Amino acid sequence: MKWKPPREWEQLRQGIGCPICEDMRLEENRFSFKVAELRQGIVRLAKNQYMRGYTVVMLRRHVNELFELSAQELAEFWQDVARVARVLYDLYQPTKVNYLVFGHHCPHLHCHLLVHSYEDDPSTPVDMNAETVLLAPEQYRDIVAGMRRRLQVSD
Ligand SMILES: [Zn+2]
Repeated sequence: MKWKPPREWEQLRQGIGCPICEDMRLEENRFSFKVAELRQGIVRLAKNQYMRGYTVVMLRRHVNELFELSAQELAEFWQDVARVARVLYDLYQPTKVNYLVFGHHCPHLHCHLLVHSYEDDPSTPVDMNAETVLLAPEQYRDIVAGMRRRLQVSD
């Protein structure tokens, strides 16, 4: 897979046609369910639960790089990420929560949260879409409800 063409990439960097801006506030989009809107981050549970608990926190506004945030925004964003990590830790009791900040498909700042257990091989490259594992609607509802309860946010 290649990078998007330079002109398209430059538009995406500016937020023009940004798929994250377009659908991060929807209750359900193609990839995920909304869990909560926190101070700086919008929290979404991925539909593909091949890696259990796979969650993404997206910055509320369109920014490409961490260095574009004010000190306060930056602190609040990571506080939101940490809150979600605590919730995933409580729910899944992992060996480790991992944080991935990529953006080579979409430059809108977001952080992937993944939980790993002792059964996982720690030297395997992380690919949360290596396989597709979809749950029943009520299973997603239960996970989202559990996360909301622990985040102390309402539906
Ligand atoms: Zn965006």
